[in-house]
Amino acid sequence: MAQQQDVLLPGATLGVMGGGQLGRMFVHAAQSLGYFTAVLDPDASSPAGLVSHHHIKTDYLDPAGLVRLAQLCQAVTTEFENVPAQAMAQLAAQRFVSPGAEAVEVAQDRAREKAHFQRCGVGCAEFAVIETVEQLTAVPDALLPGILKTARMGYDGKGQVRVASRAELASAWESLQRVPCVLEQLLQLQAECSVLVARGRDGRMVHLPVQRNLHQGGILAVTEVFPDNVPPAQAQQAIDAAYALAEGFGYVGVLCVEFFVLHDGRLVVNEMAPRPHNSGHWSVDGCDVSQFELQVRTLAGLPLVAPRQHSPAVMLNLLGELWFRGGEQETQPPWQQVLALPGVHLHLYGKQSARKGRKMGHLTVTGTDGARVRATALQAARLLGIADF
Ligand code: ATP
Ligand code: MG
Repeated sequence: MAQQQDVLLPGATLGVMGGGQLGRMFVHAAQSLGYFTAVLDPDASSPAGLVSHHHIKTDYLDPAGLVRLAQLCQAVTTEFENVPAQAMAQLAAQRFVSPGAEAVEVAQDRAREKAHFQRCGVGCAEFAVIETVEQLTAVPDALLPGILKTARMGYDGKGQVRVASRAELASAWESLQRVPCVLEQLLQLQAECSVLVARGRDGRMVHLPVQRNLHQGGILAVTEVFPDNVPPAQAQQAIDAAYALAEGFGYVGVLCVEFFVLHDGRLVVNEMAPRPHNSGHWSVDGCDVSQFELQVRTLAGLPLVAPRQHSPAVMLNLLGELWFRGGEQETQPPWQQVLALPGVHLHLYGKQSARKGRKMGHLTVTGTDGARVRATALQAARLLGIADF
């Protein structure tokens, strides 16, 4: 791997694999610190490509595109989890790449990810790996009811089937084309939370405050961050676990770890993403250092300082269905009314068309008082047609 010896100062060019909204917000953070940026994404109108100094419009595995990215940039990061490991390896031969290929590969595969949890002593749901008919038959009763998840390529609840019996399990595995899967015990959740940790090349780690997340239909809907919205004991456990997981593979970059708080108060890890995360978007408006600035700092080798949350924050995801409340015809949500509310920060990703489940943008409400911020977020949600939370 190409080792980066020196700090990359503003004026250098930072690259990102993938042109989605996470890449777009990375580009914004990098540019505001005075860096130039390059995005590799085949989509000519990708959210990050539209705002970057350079946009290489090729497939992620196109050798010539990767060579061009390495020529333009002094260091490269990724904004999506399923970036081909081979592409990261080719880039790493020439440039500093963060996160490293190993961490990306582990996070791409639920079975390897769970092995990493176990290695680091962090508890997760009981599970079984299912790659063969024998493994399917040998699943212990205790895992039912459960959730069958494809080991690879799942996101936003895709590639997951809830199963109550062995018969349902067998037909669910058929419906997933018998690809490698994990079966997880279905847990009784009291709450979900996540932590973003950033680890520098020198091993120093900092984190964002623990975020409380609400999912609807397998997709993140709301993130709330204010004092005590996650009980302090569990919050501290989550931070310790996230540090252990980052330390566990000598991680460099921003890592998001998602947790479940169970009914008996136990905290177990769900999954991790080797990049900034939707649940950390609030940090752009609620903290003095955002998750994207942390990504820039870890990539460039700049100092990491602990982010300070200056405002309670509630983040609402804006999914494509909000554009179709009037019927078949795509129409913009009532931005004027929403923007008339105090402390509303609207972030739209520049996607050209809306469709159901597509992440079009998000909105963060900040203020001085958690209860008021929450009330304003509920008002915004009602104006937009987002379910109460
Ligand atoms: P992401 O968009 O976060 O990558 P994903 O598709 O990888 O999502 P998971 O995080 O595995 O999916 O699951 C999505 C949601 O489904 C969780 O946030 C949680 O609400 C629910 N869920 C997943 N696994 C379990 C479980 N074992 N028990 C109960 N609920 C679960
Ligand atoms: Mg998840």
